[in-house]
Amino acid sequence: MRALILSDIHGNLEALEAVLAAAEGQWDELWNLGDTVGYGASPNQVVECMRSLGTVHVRGNHDRVCCGLTSPEGFNPIAKSAALWTRKQLTPDNLAWIQAMPQGPVTAGNGTVTCVHGSPLDEDDYLLSVRDAMAPVQSMRTAITFFGHTHVQGGFSYARNQWHELTPQFGAIETRRGHLPMEAQSQQIVLEQGSKALVNPGSVGQPRDHDWRAAFAIFDSAANAITFHRVAYDLATSQAKIFKARLPERLASRLREGR
Ligand code: ZN
Repeated sequence: MRALILSDIHGNLEALEAVLAAAEGQWDELWNLGDTVGYGASPNQVVECMRSLGTVHVRGNHDRVCCGLTSPEGFNPIAKSAALWTRKQLTPDNLAWIQAMPQGPVTAGNGTVTCVHGSPLDEDDYLLSVRDAMAPVQSMRTAITFFGHTHVQGGFSYARNQWHELTPQFGAIETRRGHLPMEAQSQQIVLEQGSKALVNPGSVGQPRDHDWRAAFAIFDSAANAITFHRVAYDLATSQAKIFKARLPERLASRLREGR
């Protein structure tokens, strides 16, 4: 079984479309780790696409605030204004669907893996380092947990008393201002048998690892392997929609910077 794993799409339809085109024919199930909406200007189209394709969904903190389950008070002003804008845009049907999204941890792959938004211990926690992963890995009932929330592609594995970072190395990707790498890249990492791994596919719609390209991952259960992917998308259209919607301009400029 091969699962396409997406996280933090954040209402960016152009990034989602590029990911689906790049992944076509390579997956059997689609698992969504949350923050489907918030920040981007196409919340309804993204939700409708995910509703039709996704087999497993986990809500994210932006989903929760955008649909009104919790208040935006903990958000910074830009995130808050985007959440309130998103709430106004969502159709009643899409709003109700987001309100009903399950909170992680949710199991997938017939109970063989776990999906969460932030951490297995708390949907709002950020797993940015091995240190952050130590307590969650103890709580894992499956060998692999897929998580999002940090918008950083990669992860951590623990085997035979050793930790390893699973960050893909995409080589000479120029991250200096103004340079946009356009080529698609992928890298497969085979997980050691008996290891425990926390794996982040990266963010589809708002990467923050200094690579502007949409991120996703494909899990192949037979090979016990994760393939990390990056793919360029129609950034100009995504940004133009943000300007047209009168969302904060920073939400457009940061997409180009990948941060
Ligand atoms: Zn997010």
